[in-house]
Amino acid sequence: MKLVSLNCENCNAASELTVEDDITIAFCAHCGTKNLLDDGVQKIQHCIKKEDVARIKESETLLKIKEMEFAEKEKQRLADTEKSELRVGFLVIAIAAIAIVAAIGYIVSCVA
Ligand SMILES: [Zn+2]
Repeated sequence: MKLVSLNCENCNAASELTVEDDITIAFCAHCGTKNLLDDGVQKIQHCIKKEDVARIKESETLLKIKEMEFAEKEKQRLADTEKSELRVGFLVIAIAAIAIVAAIGYIVSCVA
């Protein structure tokens, strides 16, 4: 157990709390704001307000959407690359076939 003096970052109310050693979060007795405790020595790292939580969730959602969009674009890009590779392969085969036909035609015309 340790004694923690806390100054709420939201309402700045001072309070003395007795908490377990591994406790890192304390709620302000006055406004209910969640305060993160450091190693127990009168230290507030963050004050997470409800609006902040909503904002964090919102930005996480936006990030997820962006990631999904990126993944979709990447998939599309890979598909396009495969298609163009297929086209090049087909072109090479077509040119080879034409060359063979032309060569056979030439040989046949020479023999005749
Ligand atoms: Zn407070």
